[in-house]
Parts: sequence; C-alpha cells; structure tokens
Amino acid sequence: DLTINKIAAGEVVERPSSVVKELIENSVDAGSTKVVIDIQDGGKKLIRITDNGCGIASSEVDKSFLRHATSKIKNIDDLYDLYSLGFRGEALASISAVSKLEMITKTKDEPIGTKVIVEGGHIISKEPVGAHNGTTIIIKDIFFNTPARQKFLKSTHAETINISDLINKLAIGNPHVQFKYVNNNKSMLTTPGDNKLLSVIRSIYGKEICENLIEVNYECKYFKISGYIGNNNIYRSNKNLQHVYINKRFVKSKIVLDAISEAYKGIIPINKHSICFIQLTINPANIDVNIHPTKLEVKFENEKEMYIELRDILRKTLLSVSL
Ligand code: ADP
Ligand code: MG
Repeated sequence: DLTINKIAAGEVVERPSSVVKELIENSVDAGSTKVVIDIQDGGKKLIRITDNGCGIASSEVDKSFLRHATSKIKNIDDLYDLYSLGFRGEALASISAVSKLEMITKTKDEPIGTKVIVEGGHIISKEPVGAHNGTTIIIKDIFFNTPARQKFLKSTHAETINISDLINKLAIGNPHVQFKYVNNNKSMLTTPGDNKLLSVIRSIYGKEICENLIEVNYECKYFKISGYIGNNNIYRSNKNLQHVYINKRFVKSKIVLDAISEAYKGIIPINKHSICFIQLTINPANIDVNIHPTKLEVKFENEKEMYIELRDILRKTLLSVSL
C-alpha cells in the first residue's frame, strides 16, 4: 500500500508548490481565518504551514494519512454538494509517502494536542503535545525516497516562483483568510483577511492596478459572479493577471476567458490579456470538478448558456462605465 501511495503521489505531488497547494487548501477547508506559510529553499528543504482551523482529533490523526480517507464526503451524493476544496483524501497520504512530515494538531474540544511524525508513509511516532487550536504541518526533504523525482526539481528560484504564484492564487480565492507568507526568513506577503477581494489584490499587486479595475456583480440562473475585470493596456505587466475561481477553487476555464475577450470586442482594443479576478459561484451539482487530478479543470453542465450569459453581463458592465 505504501508503494501505491508513492505512485499516487506522482499525480498529486509533482513539486513543492503542489504540496503547498494541498496543505493550504486543507487549512482553508478546516475553517481557518489565518494561515502562515514558511518556505526554505524553494520548499525543497522545508515547507511549514500553520493554521488556526478546526484541527484533527487525536483519534482521527492516523486516519488522515490513509489513502482515500477524507472527512469531507461521506457518500457519493456529497460529491454533488461540494464546496470544500479537497475531497479525494489523497493529499496527506501522498505527501507523507514522499517526504518527512511532522504534524502538530489540536481541536478546541481536546485539552491537549497531538504530534505525529511520518517518514516515507510510516508513522514513526505519535504523542500528546501542548499546542494551540489548529494544525501545523512541516514537510522536510521532499522526494527523499524517490530520487528520480528529486532530480526533476527545478532551481530554488524557479520553485519559489511557483510557490509564490500559488499562494497569490489561494489568497485571491480566499479573501476571508489572512495569509502570511515568509520565504527564507523574508516576509513576502501579508493579506488583511478582511474578506475584501480588492484588499487582497492591493496587497499582492499594489494600489495602481486597483484604480483601473471595474467591478462585476451579477446573479443569474446559472451562476453568481463577483469580482473585477480590467484592461491590461493600462497596467502594463507581463504578470499573469487572469484569475478565475469557481466556488473558491481556481480553475483554468477557457469558456470564462473567451467570454471576457468577446465582451471586450469593439469596446477596447486589448493587445495583451485582459485582467480579471472573477469569482463564480455555481451549484456544485452543475459542475464536474472530478475530471482533473489536481482539480484545475472543470466541466459545466450548461456550458453554452453560461458562456452567453457571462459574455453579455461583462459587456453590459463594460459599457456602463466610462473608459
Ligand atoms: P481531503 O482534503 O481530500 O479530505 P487530505 O489527504 O488532504 O484529504 O486530508 C485528509 C483529512 O485530514 C481531511 O479530510 C481532514 O479531515 C484532515 N485534515 C488535513 N489537513 C487538515 C487541517 N489543516 N486541519 C484540519 N483537518 C485537516
Ligand atoms: Mg486536502
């Protein structure tokens, strides 16, 4: 079974940033309002994530490292009612199979926390420990037991860029959570956690970009949309400024990006890409997030209708402001 976890890890844990993604998503799912991320050497040496979420009860700790152990869905119907980011129960099993992991966790109902050490999927020790409510997970020596994968790790610089991008994405998707990101002891990002998308954008990209954004807010039969769109001709940057979220999950959605470009047509010339920070809320029963292992792609039930509705509302929004 440990071998299977090591193989499965190939799908979930491609590089340090995938570990960071899975761990932060777990923190968000745990209801945290504050997540602290500490990275050393592009995540190759150390990844430490601390949250103030619900924690894991001592009796449940071992289970969280088992493959397909998830507390988030109880039966198949829950898949159609899914607002949590995780649901496969693969991340902790996969990550712990290919690293040295330490977890300290405490629920508010238990007087004392639990500290567990897992190496290459083996639980080495588990003991009670004094702790704050919430969970800290430390990942050391990623891929120490899969040298082939370790060889494919990129430079510290490249891995750091991946991690920073990813933290930005997760912060934008979760304005209600305060993110603190420290890289090699240098503070990289602190978001206010005030549940305002614009404050997150400001803390990541600065205030200049915020001055050129147009707010979108609309609800129809197929979805609810909120967020901002903008024109990258004003804010000259090569940064990736297209962020699309569905039910707080960032996705690659061609239909959403196409709808934005179509909406802009004839109104403003866009040389580069449009800027967008878009949150869509869609009934989970009408989307399928299950088609990609890292959940980047989604499939919509009413794709055509959604596209038209989206294009038209964005166009109306653009026409309603003087540009
Ligand atoms: P999934 O997120 O798909 O359920 P994971 O392997 O990522 O699976 O996590 C396994 C389980 O461990 C989760 O279902 C959750 O119950 C628990 N867990 C993991 N991380 C945390 C955390 N930071 N806070 C509270 N519970 C957690
Ligand atoms: Mg998870």
